[in-house]
Amino acid sequence: MPTPRRQMPRRIYPLRILGMGLGGMVVGVVLWERHASVSAWLAMVLPAFVWPHVAYLITRHSADPYRAETRNLLIDSALAASFVPLMHFNLLPSVLLLTLTMVDKITTGIRGLWARALPAMLVGGLAGAALAGLHWAPETSMRVMVACLPVMALHTLSVSMVSYQLIRQSARHNQMLDELRRVDALTGLFGRGHWQEQAEAALRRHHASNEPACMLMLDIDHFKEINDAHGHTVGDEVIRALAHVVRGNVRAGDCAGRYGGDEFAIVLPGMLAKDALAIAHRIREQTEGVRLRSLPGVRITSSIGVAPADHRHSNLRAWIDAADAALYAAKNGGRNRVAGCMEPALAPAV
Ligand code: GH3
Ligand code: MG
Repeated sequence: MPTPRRQMPRRIYPLRILGMGLGGMVVGVVLWERHASVSAWLAMVLPAFVWPHVAYLITRHSADPYRAETRNLLIDSALAASFVPLMHFNLLPSVLLLTLTMVDKITTGIRGLWARALPAMLVGGLAGAALAGLHWAPETSMRVMVACLPVMALHTLSVSMVSYQLIRQSARHNQMLDELRRVDALTGLFGRGHWQEQAEAALRRHHASNEPACMLMLDIDHFKEINDAHGHTVGDEVIRALAHVVRGNVRAGDCAGRYGGDEFAIVLPGMLAKDALAIAHRIREQTEGVRLRSLPGVRITSSIGVAPADHRHSNLRAWIDAADAALYAAKNGGRNRVAGCMEPALAPAV
């Protein structure tokens, strides 16, 4: 697939034909008004109407088209600057062409290209002066003003279109990055970072308004053995199957995340401990019923710790520790079970 760097010369070719062509027409009107010499006309026609095709051929036959195109962009600036003495410093088209050629350098996004264009423009200006001499006639006629309009309008619109596309693309990328940050790739559940943010919000609401909330910590039993016996691909299938069970048992406003490895964490806002325990039991039962498509003989169980939010949980760490303590009570109690960490002692109880 062609990379943006490789596409650059092909993208610039029509834009250069249009830009140099319209710029050349402006210069042509100035030259026509002052009955310029044939050499002055040639100094306009060659850069404006021949150079874009030469530039394209140079890049096409270059071993490094990107580098060649960058050099061509600097030559564009030099040529635009050479038009200024050619037009006897006619004010509006001179300022317009110098500004537009600089805008073109900036909008390429190539670091420092605009600064490298300054000496190129100086050289172009001096070359133009050597060719046309130094004549000061800055007045701009109505005819020349009108000739400036197409290049002004088209250039502004095309730069705006490119900016629009870039802004849209950047918004899409930001959305994708946010999605990647929020969602765990294997399971589609929330990733740990986003889950923690949601859990912190639920704990804050509990502290602020006493709104109940429960946390479930779930860990697959003897998962290492499944990995060792059947391989990591089957292990991943088990993790996905468990995520499916979890997803099937939470409400839209609940927050189910993959905490890491074979461990899942669920926050159930507004839920009392007895209801959370019922959900945990349901998940545990359904885990026993999981059958893998690739290996229907494999049996899976899970251990789950349940901890209601408590005013003594000064931060999320404390709440997670309580759910973890309950989970380990379930593991120590023989696995494939649910344990709750209940008030007031916040001590685990099976
Ligand atoms: P326990 O019953 O005490 O939980 O025993 P266990 O074997 O399940 O032990 P533990 O929970 O510590 O094992 C987690 C293992 O999960 C260790 C690691 O190799 C494996 N693991 C972590 N992330 C992944 C993953 O994304 N895919 C797979 N297949 N395995 C993973
Ligand atoms: Mg485990």
